[in-house]
Amino acid sequence: MQFKKVWDVAVVGAGPAGSTASYHLAEHDLEVLLLDQERFPRFKPCGGALSKKVKKFLPLDFDVLKGNEIYGAYFSFKGQETFRIEADNFIAKLIHREIFDQLLLEKAVRGGACFVGGERIIGVQKERNLMRLTSHRGEIYLARIVIGADGPRGITTRYMNPEHSEAMGVAIEEEMEIEPERNLRYVFLDFGRFPWGYGWVFPKEGLSSVGCGAILERKRIPLKGEFDQMKGGFGFLPEKANRRKGWLLPYFGEFSYRRAEEKMLLVGDAARFMDPFLGEGIYYALASATFAAESVLKFVEKRVSLRETYLSLVQREIMNELKHAARMAEFIYPKLWLGFKALKRSHQLGFLYMDVMSGLLPYSAFNKRLFHAIKEAGQQKLKRMLSK
Ligand SMILES: Cc1cc2nc3c(=O)[nH]c(=O)nc-3n(C[C@H](O)[C@H](O)[C@H](O)COP(=O)(O)OP(=O)(O)OC[C@H]3O[C@@H](n4cnc5c(N)ncnc54)[C@H](O)[C@@H]3O)c2cc1C
Repeated sequence: MQFKKVWDVAVVGAGPAGSTASYHLAEHDLEVLLLDQERFPRFKPCGGALSKKVKKFLPLDFDVLKGNEIYGAYFSFKGQETFRIEADNFIAKLIHREIFDQLLLEKAVRGGACFVGGERIIGVQKERNLMRLTSHRGEIYLARIVIGADGPRGITTRYMNPEHSEAMGVAIEEEMEIEPERNLRYVFLDFGRFPWGYGWVFPKEGLSSVGCGAILERKRIPLKGEFDQMKGGFGFLPEKANRRKGWLLPYFGEFSYRRAEEKMLLVGDAARFMDPFLGEGIYYALASATFAAESVLKFVEKRVSLRETYLSLVQREIMNELKHAARMAEFIYPKLWLGFKALKRSHQLGFLYMDVMSGLLPYSAFNKRLFHAIKEAGQQKLKRMLSK
């Protein structure tokens, strides 16, 4: 009789979340199987903006990571009223995801994880004390614990949240060759066209990222048409894109969502850990993967509840922050014009937001300042109207 190998941990999805969790677990001598439907290196639509706060959880040296360093942003409202905010130091690096994800995967494999690419998981089941994964080729994998890192609508998310239908965002992204003489120091952010989102140009060496993200459940618009109009307005973009792709964005809201079970955890986009205001997800993928690995190790060593350890870590370090980010999105997006004007008037707000991006200021503190500035902008508008 042939016995099937039982892995300590099987990780579904080898994006930043899956590779980071695999790396930490394999480093601690657990037998880790890392599965992805794609063969690597693979393309992933993404702006590739890495804020400085990723340093805390990135298992690579951020300082030597190749990427275009960004010092500020041009803001516009439907292509008008453009202004620029610039910092003394760089605020983010723009990386290429094919390269970044490959580096993380190599780190996990060098740490001892076993990677199988081109293996799409189509079934997740509990089987007595084990978890059972089935691939599209009919291959069966058994593991004591499963980590779901397969993105916003992956099989692991659907297994844990079969009836969930809360808001999802949609994004379009194109890769474009922008003239090399274009200044690479700034990103371009256009607000006002896309409900609960924005359009962007993230210039990089090689192919740049041009895209938009929105939550269409909040307001139906012809997204592609608006996107093309935005690109036309920028003037310096080439007519032809190298690649165009649509993608889902997970929305983190204050609704109930299952992220952990006795033998299974969700991390990264699969757990809906994405900043609902800015769309930053890589930091949260790395952070939640690190907490998932920590929880698995505690479970193995001390037999404490995997579910409770993970939920208390992410509650404290991720969900509290995202809750405030969601409140800011709920507050600002319905009155975006006022928020834009407040930012144009007070660049100080922009600098404060850069501190949020760098992990120096929590969203809760930023929100207080923002509410105050918007209130002032509203009062001034009212005064102007009354004095006419
Ligand atoms: C257009 C766009 C722009 C963005 N820009 C930024 C940005 O500038 N900065 C930022 O921080 N974040 C950005 N994000 C968000 C960021 O891309 C995600 O938050 C991040 O990729 C999440 O990492 P992850 O590891 O959880 O998931 P992913 O990176 O999506 O990896 C999931 C992996 O799972 C695999 N998979 C899926 N299903 C299966 C299956 N059934 N079986 C096996 N494998 C499977 C996939 O092939 C994939 O490799 C952007 C997102 C989009 C869509």
